Amino acid sequence: RIKIGVLGLQGAIREHIWALEKTGAEVTVVKTVEHLEGLDGLVLPGGESTTMRRLLDKYELFEPVKAFAQQHPVFGTCAGLILMAQHIEGQKGPHLGLMDIDVRRNAFGRQVASFEAELAIQHVTEAEDFIGVFIRAPYILSVGPEVEVLATYADKIVAARQGPFLTCAFHPELTEDYRMHQYFYEMVKDYKEKQSVAKA
Ligand code: GLN
Repeated sequence: RIKIGVLGLQGAIREHIWALEKTGAEVTVVKTVEHLEGLDGLVLPGGESTTMRRLLDKYELFEPVKAFAQQHPVFGTCAGLILMAQHIEGQKGPHLGLMDIDVRRNAFGRQVASFEAELAIQHVTEAEDFIGVFIRAPYILSVGPEVEVLATYADKIVAARQGPFLTCAFHPELTEDYRMHQYFYEMVKDYKEKQSVAKA
């Protein structure tokens, strides 16, 4: 069975667990280094990226999560997207820096800080029918050559994939549409199968 962890330091943790359970994965909360052991993939939830970074350092999870990501798929949503980006506008260094993307925090402005939008997502939806819940969301300003853009909203990039890394600016765990989590589950499953073939 595929095992997926949800980083459990801060943010929308429980909702991700419920959504991932619907995909058939075995789901656990990650609060210590030991909790990463045996996992096939990891979700970085939404919340507040600077707080999450502080807690990653405090719980000595920063380097272990980075190392985990060198060998497993990772899915970051909202604040998780910011944690994964190699470039954060107006900020010196990245956090985990897993994806070749440039992000702008709280990018949709004060007036429209939170909203819902119907999205078409490559490989995930057939139509423009995925409700994206945006909460003080970031968006992606630009992507590197290895990054596939999966969704845009108002000409802004709001979902992307780079190899084993998946990210979105909205909160797919806050609706009952689990297609985005299903897509990540398939990514994790494929990755794991390829690893065991490589080892055999
Ligand atoms: N605004 C938050 C940040 O910059 C992200 C918001 C969210 O995760 N819903 O970290």
